[in-house]
Amino acid sequence: MTNPFRSLEIYNVSIRPEHELLRKMLRRFTEEKLEPIWREIEEKDIIPEDIYHELVEIGAFSIGIPEKYGGQGGDQISKMVVLEELSRVIPSIGVILDTTDFPILALILWGDEEQRRRVLPDIAEGAAGAGAYTEPQAGSWLAGIETKAEKKNGYYVINGRKIFISTVEYARYIVVLARTSPPKEGRLHEGMSLFLVEKDTPGLRIGSKLNVMGMKGDRPYELIFDEAKVPEENLIGREGMGYYYTMTLLNFTRINIAAQAVGMAQGAFDKAIQYALNRKAFGRKIYAMQGVSFKIADMFMRLQASRLLTYWAAQISEEQFKYPEKTLPEVALAGSAAKAYATETAEYCAREAVQIHGGVGVDFETGIERYLRDAVITTIYEGTSEIQRHIISRFIHKILQQ
Ligand SMILES: Cc1cc2nc3c(=O)[nH]c(=O)nc-3n(C[C@H](O)[C@H](O)[C@H](O)COP(=O)(O)OP(=O)(O)OC[C@H]3O[C@@H](n4cnc5c(N)ncnc54)[C@H](O)[C@@H]3O)c2cc1C
Repeated sequence: MTNPFRSLEIYNVSIRPEHELLRKMLRRFTEEKLEPIWREIEEKDIIPEDIYHELVEIGAFSIGIPEKYGGQGGDQISKMVVLEELSRVIPSIGVILDTTDFPILALILWGDEEQRRRVLPDIAEGAAGAGAYTEPQAGSWLAGIETKAEKKNGYYVINGRKIFISTVEYARYIVVLARTSPPKEGRLHEGMSLFLVEKDTPGLRIGSKLNVMGMKGDRPYELIFDEAKVPEENLIGREGMGYYYTMTLLNFTRINIAAQAVGMAQGAFDKAIQYALNRKAFGRKIYAMQGVSFKIADMFMRLQASRLLTYWAAQISEEQFKYPEKTLPEVALAGSAAKAYATETAEYCAREAVQIHGGVGVDFETGIERYLRDAVITTIYEGTSEIQRHIISRFIHKILQQ
């Protein structure tokens, strides 16, 4: 009955009153501060500085950072609540918070005490983070990266090129995956390490901006490492473990993207209902037409299933903190399932919301078509839907073999 799991107990999701309080506080914030500026963000493609400061003020960056490192603590479900609520209105804020999780999680899981004390309080105060893995020849196939880090006189000297790196404009700390030993035939994923690279590192240059279709407010850039000198003490965890660490990080951050997608699906759903209840055709509200109300029912089902899957994955991911050096198959499986399902749901809900709006749905001014442009991106970054299916099928097999 529970195949591939052994027990029903794995389906535990515990939402507490403080999660709902957090959601309500964020809902007030988004309605007051974010709703009025979505158009400005779409047009200028940047989060206004005052709004960024307000995000810091409400604690958006400090959630998930333990109190002893200047954060407010909070579990993974709290993080999902924040991502979902903010992304419901401005999905690109979800990108900034998601990529900031790369240095947060990497240091909590494998960093040393000095790194945590130096970096985490700074992030809690709004110094955002980024994750640089993708290269022109290696996206889904991360084992194919070529960026090199060579140890010389107390530094790692990094050379290579990364593309599509989000949050670069806001970030101070970039987690970078590079090769510390030459690739071995058939064992390409070995010999990589993870580094904490500060944006002002000599030899690191921000290259061209990629002009992508959505997620306005967070532009991805190319990063060029030309003899970039990174102090030896900025190696994260153990040398040679970079690929495994990256896979574990992605198992967490894919749940962030699922929460971002749930927020977007909710945003599109809310707008679709409101329109359907007001717009009249053939002398009655379009909500009364089954062709429209069935769309709403389908959106509702997929949206709720996505939220449950996402919160469930977030709850399971807490286990990973107890075993930082092990990839927990349940976490990978739940995270990939949540990511694929929720992002495809966001795309579905955005498309249906546009359709329900008819002609005005494709008009920029209505603020609906942007959800569709954004949703497509969520099905691609942090592993495409195809890659999630690959992970899901692989880990089902792995769990069955345990
Ligand atoms: C807006 C945006 C922001 C991004 N931000 C970041 C970031 O901050 N940091 C970062 O490192 N990267 C980032 N990325 C990169 C992103 O993670 C990659 O684009 C993504 O992982 C896909 O890699 P690719 O583009 O190289 O496509 P490819 O890997 O070339 O894939 C092309 C197609 O082949 C399919 N495919 C590939 N392998 C398989 C397989 N084994 N089975 C089935 N199908 C397969 C893919 O699903 C896809 O449809 C970002 C991308 C975008 C668009």
